[in-house]
Amino acid sequence: MTTVAAYAAPAAKAPLERTTIERRPVGEHDVLIEIKFAGICHSDIHQAREGWGEAIFPMVPGHEIAGIVTEVGPGVTKFAAGDRVGVGCMVDSCRECENCEAGLEQYCTRGNVGTYNAIGKDGEPTYGGYSTHIVVDEAFTVRIPEGLALDEAAPLLCAGITTYSPLKHWNAGPGKKVAVVGMGGLGHMGVKIAHALGAEVTVLSQSLRKKDDGLKLGADHYYATSDPNTFKELRGSFDLILSTVSAPLDLDTFLSLLKTDGAFVNVGAPEEPVSLNLFSVIGGRKTLAGSGIGGIQETQEMLDFCAEHGFGAEIELISAGEINEAYERVLNSDVRYRFVIDVATI
Ligand SMILES: [Zn+2]
Ligand SMILES: [Zn+2]
Repeated sequence: MTTVAAYAAPAAKAPLERTTIERRPVGEHDVLIEIKFAGICHSDIHQAREGWGEAIFPMVPGHEIAGIVTEVGPGVTKFAAGDRVGVGCMVDSCRECENCEAGLEQYCTRGNVGTYNAIGKDGEPTYGGYSTHIVVDEAFTVRIPEGLALDEAAPLLCAGITTYSPLKHWNAGPGKKVAVVGMGGLGHMGVKIAHALGAEVTVLSQSLRKKDDGLKLGADHYYATSDPNTFKELRGSFDLILSTVSAPLDLDTFLSLLKTDGAFVNVGAPEEPVSLNLFSVIGGRKTLAGSGIGGIQETQEMLDFCAEHGFGAEIELISAGEINEAYERVLNSDVRYRFVIDVATI
């Protein structure tokens, strides 16, 4: 075991504070990663405050991890010391169910092992990226291409793959009209990726406050959902709507914006159940769907895609001492567009 520095929430809703945690010895197929940057995802806050149910404390959040390999186990074949790597939302899965076989480890029928707030196969709690080092099986480690800066790459490990996977699955591309609901950490990546895939992109945001950014990042159109005219004007417009918000939406109204056979896909999750009039999907043979992160292979594909197109996330780099303040700002949608912790300051 190795003792490393970390930022942890000692209990639900308690502020995060500096502490130390134990990392397991580097096993046969493990890589030891010196973490350089860790993104702050909205779900870190949901979990640290038990918004999604009972959680494990102390909790070291962080599942947008970018760093450098410093040591590898004897059985490691994909990585060597010095490699630039990333770790996302999961660090293990059963590896033998039909979903794992299909590269859909995120939907492992026995449940994947979360990067934090989970119990690993060794029976110990997992701790995430707000720490100086992590030990991860190489099978759940991905390569960060040279063209991507590590700090701007970190948020791709959750926000990037969470939007890339459904955009690919529902065929966002040339000739397709795609709307992205929400212009936050996930939404801004949805805009960049949908644009790079060749789709015509519309942002549906509460206000026009971030319109200039949205257009700069690749949106063709930008509408405020607080304006009722938006819903009249855009009725029946979209092949695909990607909702990245965790606030509850009026689903019936949003579904009216789809074309026949269009799909409304949720990657954000409100803490409470939502209601729906099923006629909203019956008329127009529409799909209401969800999507969760992406598999390991697809995460690698997404990183390569972003590097090829020359973009990472838009970030605000902070020191570890600013984490609690950053949480409040995320809750107030006051970040453009992802906080990334400079782990050297832990
Ligand atoms: Zn996340
Ligand atoms: Zn599985």
